[in-house]
Amino acid sequence: MIKEYIHCPFCGVTLQKGLIDHKKRKYCPSCDFVDYKNPLPVVFAIAVRGRRLLLIKRGIAPKKGMWACPSGAIEIGETPEEACLRELKEETGASGEIVRLVGVIKVEEEEIYGDLLALGYLVKLADGELLCGDEVEDVRFFNMSGLPDSYVDLFRKEIEEIQQLEL
Ligand SMILES: [Zn+2]
Repeated sequence: MIKEYIHCPFCGVTLQKGLIDHKKRKYCPSCDFVDYKNPLPVVFAIAVRGRRLLLIKRGIAPKKGMWACPSGAIEIGETPEEACLRELKEETGASGEIVRLVGVIKVEEEEIYGDLLALGYLVKLADGELLCGDEVEDVRFFNMSGLPDSYVDLFRKEIEEIQQLEL
């Protein structure tokens, strides 16, 4: 369930609904808080070694049990590139270097977070052992032609293009 404010997070008064900046939004009648809704910026590591793509089996919602690229939210103070490499390290133990931004897409995530603004980075992985992060059930390489059935299918066009490149 995507959580919504019922009370003002600053003064606790019950929020009301009204037209603000041409959109129906919740606002606090007591202070100047307006519950603006903005997409959450998240990063995805399209992490490759040769022609193989590193995926995690997600251990937590959303999409628990599905295979996906390592991903997560950008923390305050981080660049998106730093967030991408941090999430990759936390979830898989792998290090790598950012090659380039491959795409920016809108994702409608319906379990928890609502709309996401997803930035996909191509990451060239360094050699080294993999591990399974705390929020991860499994970590494995896949050939790009044989992605698992239960797969969070984002950046497909970009991944197919990457497949054509020498890495
Ligand atoms: Zn308030």
